[in-house]
Amino acid sequence: MDGSIKVLILGSIALDTIQTPFGKKENLLGGSATYAAVVVSFFTKPGIVSIIGTDFPSRYYNFLKKRSIGLEGVVKKGKTFRWSGLYEYDMNVAKTLRTELNCLEVFDPILPDKYKGVPYVLLGNMHPLQQERVLEQVIDPKFVVMDTMNLWIEHTREDLIKLIKKVDLLLLNDGEARQLFGEVNLVRVAKKALRLGPRFVVIKKGEHGALLFTKDYVFSVPGYPLEEVVDPTGCGDTFAGGLLGYISSKGVSTESIKKGIVFGSICASFNAEGFGLSKLKRIKREDISRRYKEFQKLVKF
Ligand code: AMP
Repeated sequence: MDGSIKVLILGSIALDTIQTPFGKKENLLGGSATYAAVVVSFFTKPGIVSIIGTDFPSRYYNFLKKRSIGLEGVVKKGKTFRWSGLYEYDMNVAKTLRTELNCLEVFDPILPDKYKGVPYVLLGNMHPLQQERVLEQVIDPKFVVMDTMNLWIEHTREDLIKLIKKVDLLLLNDGEARQLFGEVNLVRVAKKALRLGPRFVVIKKGEHGALLFTKDYVFSVPGYPLEEVVDPTGCGDTFAGGLLGYISSKGVSTESIKKGIVFGSICASFNAEGFGLSKLKRIKREDISRRYKEFQKLVKF
Protein backbone atom coordinates (compact mmCIF):
# COMPACT_ATOMS: atom_id res chain seq x y z
CA MET A 1 0.00 0.00 0.00
CA ASP A 2 1.40 3.47 -0.84
CA GLY A 3 0.89 6.30 1.62
CA SER A 4 -2.26 7.68 -0.02
CA ILE A 5 -5.59 7.19 1.65
CA LYS A 6 -8.51 5.38 0.04
CA VAL A 7 -11.29 6.19 2.51
CA LEU A 8 -11.83 9.68 3.88
CA ILE A 9 -13.68 9.84 7.18
CA LEU A 10 -15.24 12.97 8.62
CA GLY A 11 -16.40 12.60 12.20
CA SER A 12 -15.68 13.27 15.82
CA ILE A 13 -12.68 12.24 17.87
CA ALA A 14 -13.90 12.18 21.42
CA LEU A 15 -13.32 11.48 25.04
CA ASP A 16 -16.28 9.30 26.02
CA THR A 17 -17.69 8.46 29.42
CA ILE A 18 -19.83 5.37 29.16
CA GLN A 19 -22.11 3.71 31.64
CA THR A 20 -23.71 0.31 31.00
CA PRO A 21 -25.23 -2.31 33.32
CA PHE A 22 -21.69 -3.76 33.43
CA GLY A 23 -19.82 -0.71 34.66
CA LYS A 24 -18.67 2.82 34.00
CA LYS A 25 -15.54 4.02 32.17
CA GLU A 26 -14.39 7.60 31.91
CA ASN A 27 -12.49 9.49 29.20
CA LEU A 28 -12.15 6.57 26.81
CA LEU A 29 -10.95 7.24 23.29
CA GLY A 30 -14.12 7.47 21.18
CA GLY A 31 -15.84 9.48 18.50
CA SER A 32 -17.51 8.57 15.24
CA ALA A 33 -14.36 9.03 13.13
CA THR A 34 -12.22 7.06 15.56
CA TYR A 35 -14.43 3.96 15.56
CA ALA A 36 -14.94 4.04 11.80
CA ALA A 37 -11.24 4.55 11.03
CA VAL A 38 -10.09 1.75 13.31
CA VAL A 39 -12.36 -0.63 11.39
CA VAL A 40 -11.52 0.73 7.92
CA SER A 41 -7.85 0.15 8.76
CA PHE A 42 -8.53 -3.61 8.62
CA PHE A 43 -9.34 -3.19 4.90
CA THR A 44 -7.41 -0.22 3.55
CA LYS A 45 -5.79 3.09 4.55
CA PRO A 46 -8.24 5.62 6.03
CA GLY A 47 -7.66 9.32 6.64
CA ILE A 48 -9.59 11.32 9.22
CA VAL A 49 -10.82 14.91 8.97
CA SER A 50 -11.58 16.09 12.47
CA ILE A 51 -10.49 18.24 15.40
CA ILE A 52 -9.02 17.47 18.81
CA GLY A 53 -8.20 19.78 21.70
CA THR A 54 -4.82 20.59 23.19
CA ASP A 55 -5.93 18.39 26.12
CA PHE A 56 -6.14 15.30 23.89
CA PRO A 57 -3.99 12.53 25.41
CA SER A 58 -0.90 11.80 23.32
CA ARG A 59 -1.29 8.05 23.94
CA TYR A 60 -4.60 8.16 22.07
CA TYR A 61 -3.05 10.12 19.19
CA ASN A 62 -0.18 7.64 18.99
CA PHE A 63 -2.61 4.73 18.99
CA LEU A 64 -4.36 6.10 15.88
CA LYS A 65 -1.06 6.84 14.21
CA LYS A 66 0.25 3.34 14.85
CA ARG A 67 -2.76 1.87 13.06
CA SER A 68 -1.68 3.73 9.91
CA ILE A 69 -4.65 6.05 10.05
CA GLY A 70 -3.94 9.30 8.17
CA LEU A 71 -4.09 12.18 10.62
CA GLU A 72 -3.01 15.05 8.35
CA GLY A 73 -6.61 16.29 8.37
CA VAL A 74 -6.84 16.42 12.16
CA VAL A 75 -6.53 19.92 13.62
CA LYS A 76 -5.57 20.61 17.24
CA LYS A 77 -7.31 23.55 18.89
CA GLY A 78 -9.26 24.34 22.08
CA LYS A 79 -10.83 21.60 24.19
CA THR A 80 -11.60 18.06 22.99
CA PHE A 81 -15.21 17.04 22.26
CA ARG A 82 -16.71 15.00 25.10
CA TRP A 83 -19.71 12.71 25.08
CA SER A 84 -21.28 10.81 27.91
CA GLY A 85 -23.82 8.05 27.38
CA LEU A 86 -25.86 5.56 29.34
CA TYR A 87 -27.17 2.16 28.28
CA GLU A 88 -29.79 0.43 30.34
CA TYR A 89 -30.80 -3.18 29.83
CA ASP A 90 -32.03 -2.46 26.30
CA MET A 91 -28.55 -1.95 24.94
CA ASN A 92 -29.88 -0.97 21.52
CA VAL A 93 -30.63 2.55 22.68
CA ALA A 94 -28.01 4.97 23.99
CA LYS A 95 -29.22 7.73 26.24
CA THR A 96 -27.02 10.80 25.84
CA LEU A 97 -26.29 12.21 29.27
CA ARG A 98 -24.03 15.03 28.13
CA THR A 99 -22.63 16.41 24.89
CA GLU A 100 -19.84 18.97 25.14
CA LEU A 101 -19.13 19.92 21.54
CA ASN A 102 -16.19 22.17 22.55
CA CYS A 103 -13.79 22.36 19.59
CA LEU A 104 -16.27 20.58 17.28
CA GLU A 105 -18.66 23.49 17.45
CA VAL A 106 -16.38 25.89 15.58
CA PHE A 107 -14.67 23.32 13.39
CA ASP A 108 -14.32 24.28 9.74
CA PRO A 109 -13.10 21.08 8.07
CA ILE A 110 -10.41 21.78 5.48
CA LEU A 111 -9.07 18.86 3.47
CA PRO A 112 -5.33 18.53 2.98
CA ASP A 113 -4.68 18.77 -0.79
CA LYS A 114 -3.60 15.14 -0.96
CA TYR A 115 -7.03 14.00 0.34
CA LYS A 116 -9.05 15.84 -2.31
CA GLY A 117 -8.90 13.06 -4.90
CA VAL A 118 -10.02 10.34 -2.48
CA PRO A 119 -12.45 7.80 -4.01
CA TYR A 120 -14.49 6.77 -0.95
CA VAL A 121 -15.99 9.17 1.57
CA LEU A 122 -17.70 8.54 4.90
CA LEU A 123 -19.54 11.59 6.17
CA GLY A 124 -19.72 10.42 9.77
CA ASN A 125 -21.80 11.87 12.50
CA MET A 126 -21.29 15.65 12.59
CA HIS A 127 -23.25 18.81 11.82
CA PRO A 128 -24.66 18.44 8.25
CA LEU A 129 -23.09 21.72 7.17
CA GLN A 130 -19.68 20.38 8.24
CA GLN A 131 -20.45 17.19 6.30
CA GLU A 132 -21.37 19.25 3.23
CA ARG A 133 -18.23 21.37 3.57
CA VAL A 134 -16.12 18.23 3.28
CA LEU A 135 -18.07 16.80 0.39
CA GLU A 136 -17.69 19.97 -1.67
CA GLN A 137 -13.89 19.73 -1.37
CA VAL A 138 -13.62 16.17 -2.72
CA ILE A 139 -13.03 16.36 -6.46
CA ASP A 140 -14.80 13.31 -7.91
CA PRO A 141 -15.80 10.81 -5.24
CA LYS A 142 -16.77 7.30 -6.36
CA PHE A 143 -19.01 6.51 -3.43
CA VAL A 144 -20.25 8.66 -0.55
CA VAL A 145 -21.83 7.25 2.61
CA MET A 146 -23.58 9.51 5.09
CA ASP A 147 -24.45 8.85 8.71
CA THR A 148 -26.24 11.09 11.21
CA MET A 149 -27.94 11.06 14.62
CA ASN A 150 -30.97 12.35 16.53
CA LEU A 151 -29.24 15.59 17.62
CA TRP A 152 -28.92 16.74 14.01
CA ILE A 153 -32.35 15.41 13.03
CA GLU A 154 -33.90 17.51 15.80
CA HIS A 155 -31.93 20.71 15.23
CA THR A 156 -30.77 20.80 11.59
CA ARG A 157 -33.41 18.87 9.63
CA GLU A 158 -33.43 21.11 6.56
CA ASP A 159 -29.63 20.97 6.18
CA LEU A 160 -29.73 17.18 6.53
CA ILE A 161 -32.37 16.77 3.83
CA LYS A 162 -30.35 18.95 1.47
CA LEU A 163 -27.26 16.83 2.00
CA ILE A 164 -29.02 13.47 1.67
CA LYS A 165 -29.77 14.40 -1.95
CA LYS A 166 -26.03 14.43 -2.70
CA VAL A 167 -24.89 11.08 -1.26
CA ASP A 168 -24.89 7.53 -2.63
CA LEU A 169 -25.79 5.67 0.55
CA LEU A 170 -27.71 6.95 3.57
CA LEU A 171 -27.15 5.10 6.82
CA LEU A 172 -29.60 5.50 9.70
CA ASN A 173 -30.71 3.47 12.67
CA ASP A 174 -34.39 2.58 12.85
CA GLY A 175 -35.28 5.18 15.49
CA GLU A 176 -33.51 7.97 13.61
CA ALA A 177 -35.07 6.91 10.31
CA ARG A 178 -38.58 7.05 11.79
CA GLN A 179 -37.85 10.41 13.42
CA LEU A 180 -36.41 11.95 10.25
CA PHE A 181 -39.24 10.89 7.95
CA GLY A 182 -42.14 11.06 10.41
CA GLU A 183 -43.20 7.52 9.57
CA VAL A 184 -43.35 4.33 11.66
CA ASN A 185 -43.16 1.71 8.92
CA LEU A 186 -39.55 1.21 7.83
CA VAL A 187 -40.38 0.23 4.23
CA ARG A 188 -42.24 3.50 3.78
CA VAL A 189 -39.45 5.37 5.53
CA ALA A 190 -36.93 3.89 3.09
CA LYS A 191 -39.10 4.79 0.09
CA LYS A 192 -39.25 8.39 1.26
CA ALA A 193 -35.48 8.42 1.75
CA LEU A 194 -34.82 6.93 -1.70
CA ARG A 195 -37.06 9.54 -3.28
CA LEU A 196 -34.64 12.21 -2.04
CA GLY A 197 -31.86 10.85 -4.24
CA PRO A 198 -29.50 8.28 -2.65
CA ARG A 199 -29.34 4.99 -4.54
CA PHE A 200 -28.98 3.01 -1.32
CA VAL A 201 -30.59 3.37 2.09
CA VAL A 202 -29.42 1.19 4.96
CA ILE A 203 -31.51 1.03 8.12
CA LYS A 204 -29.72 -0.51 11.11
CA LYS A 205 -31.79 -2.26 13.74
CA GLY A 206 -29.26 -2.68 16.55
CA GLU A 207 -28.79 -6.31 17.56
CA HIS A 208 -31.52 -7.27 15.04
CA GLY A 209 -29.40 -6.55 11.98
CA ALA A 210 -29.87 -4.22 9.06
CA LEU A 211 -31.96 -3.70 5.92
CA LEU A 212 -30.71 -2.40 2.59
CA PHE A 213 -33.25 -0.70 0.36
CA THR A 214 -32.83 0.29 -3.28
CA LYS A 215 -35.40 1.15 -5.93
CA ASP A 216 -35.20 -2.43 -7.23
CA TYR A 217 -34.63 -4.73 -4.27
CA VAL A 218 -34.46 -5.14 -0.51
CA PHE A 219 -31.70 -7.10 1.24
CA SER A 220 -31.79 -8.17 4.88
CA VAL A 221 -28.92 -9.12 7.18
CA PRO A 222 -29.33 -10.42 10.73
CA GLY A 223 -27.27 -9.22 13.64
CA TYR A 224 -24.53 -11.65 14.61
CA PRO A 225 -25.92 -13.49 17.67
CA LEU A 226 -23.64 -12.47 20.55
CA GLU A 227 -23.72 -14.08 23.94
CA GLU A 228 -22.17 -11.09 25.63
CA VAL A 229 -22.82 -7.45 24.78
CA VAL A 230 -20.64 -5.22 26.94
CA ASP A 231 -20.84 -1.78 25.32
CA PRO A 232 -22.50 -0.89 22.01
CA THR A 233 -20.90 2.57 21.77
CA GLY A 234 -19.52 2.97 18.29
CA CYS A 235 -21.55 0.14 16.73
CA GLY A 236 -23.06 2.53 14.18
CA ASP A 237 -19.64 3.85 13.25
CA THR A 238 -17.99 0.44 13.11
CA PHE A 239 -20.86 -0.77 10.92
CA ALA A 240 -20.18 2.16 8.58
CA GLY A 241 -16.44 1.44 8.68
CA GLY A 242 -16.87 -2.25 7.84
CA LEU A 243 -19.31 -1.43 5.06
CA LEU A 244 -17.20 1.20 3.32
CA GLY A 245 -13.90 -0.50 4.14
CA TYR A 246 -15.07 -3.62 2.33
CA ILE A 247 -16.62 -1.74 -0.60
CA SER A 248 -13.39 0.23 -1.06
CA SER A 249 -11.40 -3.00 -1.25
CA LYS A 250 -13.64 -4.49 -3.97
CA GLY A 251 -15.09 -1.55 -5.92
CA VAL A 252 -18.74 -0.55 -6.05
CA SER A 253 -21.16 -3.29 -7.17
CA THR A 254 -24.41 -4.81 -5.94
CA GLU A 255 -22.40 -7.73 -4.58
CA SER A 256 -19.84 -5.60 -2.74
CA ILE A 257 -22.56 -3.48 -1.16
CA LYS A 258 -24.47 -6.54 0.06
CA LYS A 259 -21.30 -8.18 1.39
CA GLY A 260 -20.24 -4.82 2.82
CA ILE A 261 -23.37 -4.81 4.94
CA VAL A 262 -22.43 -8.24 6.27
CA PHE A 263 -18.92 -6.97 7.09
CA GLY A 264 -20.45 -3.91 8.75
CA SER A 265 -22.62 -6.12 10.89
CA ILE A 266 -19.63 -8.31 11.83
CA CYS A 267 -17.38 -5.37 12.76
CA ALA A 268 -20.16 -3.89 14.89
CA SER A 269 -20.59 -7.25 16.63
CA PHE A 270 -16.91 -7.34 17.61
CA ASN A 271 -17.11 -3.77 18.81
CA ALA A 272 -20.02 -4.52 21.17
CA GLU A 273 -18.00 -7.21 22.94
CA GLY A 274 -15.76 -4.78 24.80
CA PHE A 275 -15.84 -1.37 26.44
CA GLY A 276 -14.86 1.42 24.03
CA LEU A 277 -12.27 0.15 21.55
CA SER A 278 -10.93 -2.60 23.80
CA LYS A 279 -12.17 -5.53 21.71
CA LEU A 280 -11.37 -4.00 18.32
CA LYS A 281 -7.82 -3.38 19.49
CA ARG A 282 -7.37 -7.09 20.08
CA ILE A 283 -8.78 -8.55 16.87
CA LYS A 284 -7.08 -9.15 13.52
CA ARG A 285 -8.37 -9.21 9.92
CA GLU A 286 -8.45 -13.04 10.16
CA ASP A 287 -10.96 -12.83 13.03
CA ILE A 288 -13.26 -10.82 10.80
CA SER A 289 -12.90 -13.39 7.99
CA ARG A 290 -13.61 -16.22 10.42
CA ARG A 291 -16.79 -14.58 11.65
CA TYR A 292 -17.79 -13.91 8.02
CA LYS A 293 -17.71 -17.68 7.38
CA GLU A 294 -19.81 -18.31 10.49
CA PHE A 295 -22.19 -15.66 9.25
CA GLN A 296 -22.58 -17.47 5.93
CA LYS A 297 -23.63 -20.61 7.80
CA LEU A 298 -26.03 -18.58 9.88
CA VAL A 299 -28.02 -17.37 6.88
CA LYS A 300 -27.78 -20.42 4.59
CA PHE A 301 -30.95 -22.47 4.25
P1 AMP B 1 -22.49 5.24 17.73
O1 AMP B 1 -21.79 4.52 16.65
O2 AMP B 1 -23.77 5.85 17.27
O3 AMP B 1 -22.61 4.45 18.99
O4 AMP B 1 -21.56 6.51 18.07
C1 AMP B 1 -20.86 6.65 19.27
C2 AMP B 1 -19.84 7.75 19.17
O5 AMP B 1 -20.44 8.94 18.65
C3 AMP B 1 -19.26 8.10 20.52
O6 AMP B 1 -17.90 7.68 20.57
C4 AMP B 1 -19.40 9.61 20.62
O7 AMP B 1 -18.20 10.25 21.00
C5 AMP B 1 -19.84 10.06 19.26
N1 AMP B 1 -20.85 11.12 19.31
C6 AMP B 1 -21.88 11.26 20.16
N2 AMP B 1 -22.57 12.38 19.92
C7 AMP B 1 -21.96 13.00 18.87
C8 AMP B 1 -22.19 14.21 18.13
N3 AMP B 1 -23.21 15.04 18.42
N4 AMP B 1 -21.36 14.50 17.10
C9 AMP B 1 -20.35 13.68 16.79
N5 AMP B 1 -20.08 12.54 17.45
C10 AMP B 1 -20.86 12.19 18.47
